[in-house]
Amino acid sequence: MNIILMGPPGAGKGTQAKILEEKYGLKQLSTGDMLRAERAAGTELGTRVQAIMDAGDLVSDDIIIEMIEKRMNEKDCANGVIFDGFPRTIPQADALGLMLKAKGKSIVLVVDLAVDENILFERVEKRAAEAVAAGQPVRNDDRPEVVARRIREYKTYTAEVSPYYESRGLLLRLDGMQPIDLIATRIQAALPAKK
Ligand code: AMP
Repeated sequence: MNIILMGPPGAGKGTQAKILEEKYGLKQLSTGDMLRAERAAGTELGTRVQAIMDAGDLVSDDIIIEMIEKRMNEKDCANGVIFDGFPRTIPQADALGLMLKAKGKSIVLVVDLAVDENILFERVEKRAAEAVAAGQPVRNDDRPEVVARRIREYKTYTAEVSPYYESRGLLLRLDGMQPIDLIATRIQAALPAKK
């Protein structure tokens, strides 16, 4: 079972992904996290994407698709994946469809979590404060000046990708302001009974 979670930073994607991972044995794959890990490890890929990410631009479709394809072949993805931050473009969505089809699989649901922009800032600020309190580094892109840009970027890419899935009858729009449990229940109710 493969699911896509869309939503701006702070919409609660991480929380919902964790619930789905535990309930269905799925694996959350965040392309942003994967790229940050490459950078932290100082790999060739990490070095290549560094300037692009810092400028707030999208990494090329080829790089993203290759990275996802490799990762999806690992054992922990066998039950299915929750895609987070991917696909961000139509070519990525097409490539994902083909990749899954080749394995006899498909996307069963695309969840778009909508949240009021002012609340998003509060949530992301809270996440940054919690990181500081726990003695952890604040994600560079959780800094307020960067959050505004990420929200803008999110709007651009969902404007492109959500109609793609809506026209395929896969899009579930939910109000991310609702309680965590209620959102989780709505998502589960929209999933097919069998994988
Ligand atoms: P995120 O944590 O999802 O906001 O991603 C952080 C940054 O990584 C983005 O601003 C992009 O530069 C890059 N990135 C992550 N996912 C993708 C993607 N699917 N396509 C292109 N670039 C991406």
